[in-house]
Amino acid sequence: METTFTRTYEEEKEYKLSDLKPYEVDLLKRVIEICWEAREKGNHPFGCLLADEEGNILMEQGNEEVTEGGDCTCHAETALMRKATKKYTKEEMAHFTMYNCGDPCAMCAGAIYWGNLGRVVYIGRESELKKYTGDDIRNPTLDLPSRVVFASGQKKVEVLGPFLELEPELMKCHENYWHPSENFKG
Ligand SMILES: [Zn+2]
Repeated sequence: METTFTRTYEEEKEYKLSDLKPYEVDLLKRVIEICWEAREKGNHPFGCLLADEEGNILMEQGNEEVTEGGDCTCHAETALMRKATKKYTKEEMAHFTMYNCGDPCAMCAGAIYWGNLGRVVYIGRESELKKYTGDDIRNPTLDLPSRVVFASGQKKVEVLGPFLELEPELMKCHENYWHPSENFKG
């Protein structure tokens, strides 16, 4: 039996940093630093932060999958949502923005949805990340746009990204980190 899913969502377009408030550009640059910090701690080079409507940083989170003993739910975004929703109400979360390195994966998009976060701004494309990770078992990229996940829900989660002007700087975090198999063809 064939099952067909039809979901309408806004295709990603190219966003410009000039579309953002100046402090938001600084927050995205801070996210790149968080990715480096995660890598330096022995974790995968991913990171995000949570900010309020004035751009105040409420929480920062790097990937913790390695230091948490292989816990596959320790992607930065899911880890942040776990902590943030213990601290803030759903009404508060609706007004906050997550600044993120990439488009959240299906698991993280789920956590964002259930935690009632209002807005996500991200830098890099999954397709670009895949050039680095390949089929590395630590991160076999799951290219399901978060917009598709959110389009299946009952409420709006605003998504802005990718911001290609910052993508090359972000991808430096991934250089010489992943090890695709010899057979990986991209
Ligand atoms: Zn994830």
